[in-house]
Amino acid sequence: MKHTENLVVGLGIAGLNLCHQLEKAGKSFLVIDRCPINSASLIAGGIYNPVVLKRKVKSWKVDELFPFLVQTYEELEMQLSNSFLHHNFPILKPISSADELVEWQQAVDEKRLAPYVNSREESRPLGPFHKNVVGSVTINDSGFVRIGKLVLSYRNYLKEKGVLIEDAFEHSVVKTEKSTISYKGVSADRIIFSEGRFISENPFFNWLPFRPTKGQMLTVRVPEELTPDRIYNQQFLLFPTEEKDIFRLGATYEWHNLDEVPTQKATDELIERAKRALDIQFEVLDAQAAIRPNVADRRPVVGRHPEIETIFLFNGMGSKGVMLAPFFAKQLVEHIYDGKEIASEVNLMRFKKRYANS
Ligand SMILES: Cc1cc2nc3c(=O)[nH]c(=O)nc-3n(C[C@H](O)[C@H](O)[C@H](O)COP(=O)(O)OP(=O)(O)OC[C@H]3O[C@@H](n4cnc5c(N)ncnc54)[C@H](O)[C@@H]3O)c2cc1C
Repeated sequence: MKHTENLVVGLGIAGLNLCHQLEKAGKSFLVIDRCPINSASLIAGGIYNPVVLKRKVKSWKVDELFPFLVQTYEELEMQLSNSFLHHNFPILKPISSADELVEWQQAVDEKRLAPYVNSREESRPLGPFHKNVVGSVTINDSGFVRIGKLVLSYRNYLKEKGVLIEDAFEHSVVKTEKSTISYKGVSADRIIFSEGRFISENPFFNWLPFRPTKGQMLTVRVPEELTPDRIYNQQFLLFPTEEKDIFRLGATYEWHNLDEVPTQKATDELIERAKRALDIQFEVLDAQAAIRPNVADRRPVVGRHPEIETIFLFNGMGSKGVMLAPFFAKQLVEHIYDGKEIASEVNLMRFKKRYANS
């Protein structure tokens, strides 16, 4: 029987970051993933933003997450000899009312958003944003990771190393013992599940309060006047692809009809939102949909199963997988190997009462 220290199930942005931290710590692992074409990680925008624009506050734990995020994706670029990270790629947020302008000014004056937002600007030409704009804020430390490209590249890397099994994992076949697990000819010290929204099919963790949301993104062609040097944000996100005049436009949130099928309704909604703010034409080239693994309290769920010592979870990245996964993957690896604490806000033990009642 083949032995590995860690059997990882699921290779989206969560599983990928986990493997990266395991590898950096010199620990062995084997990954099982059925390699879909439309997981959340493959179609996501990959944007990270240090500011919650609606509430004009810093994003949760951003000062800790940010430096580590940049470092991790730079390491992966080096390791895979490929480019994915567009850091310091500004988000341009137009402001459409005088009241909102004052609120932003207060946030800036009180340095509530420093160092991520240091000024807001009075009305000035805002490129193609045309309607009701009285000013703007620019967030400079934001950016995006070409997350689909990264996952596919990492998949190839693992394949070449011979540590990726492309198959559907069958939970009913796992055997757990005191200090090992076994699965179809593999034994491991532990199994770590990072299955994204498919956690609903995992009998070890189906008691957790996941609230998955469907999201749709479009690939659109836009006329040349839209400069590809920023992320446009106004109840939508519009940002460039690697091809001239081709942008991605997203994303919708839907709590029903949870499947990976794009709909005309969601396409119309996105185009409608964009046209309300931008005086340009869009040609829709493609639509993609996937399901985000959101949790009721909007925090990741990380840690050991309440009863089975050899089973772990790394999930619940919700709408922010790019930002959350690097930091908490490291925390989980340090917990497993060095006994360090997992932050209480993300530790799955916060739901232990639910487990007891399940
Ligand atoms: C439209 C849209 C836009 C988004 N935009 C952003 C954004 O701009 N920025 C951001 O940070 N986040 C964004 N997100 C959220 C982001 O996609 C998620 O946070 C993240 O991708 C979740 O990653 P994951 O690895 O947990 O899950 P997934 O990406 O779903 O990966 C899970 C993997 O596990 C595998 N798997 C599951 N069960 C099994 C099994 N039984 N056997 C074998 N394999 C299995 C699946 O095949 C898959 O490969 C967006 C999501 C959507 C839908």
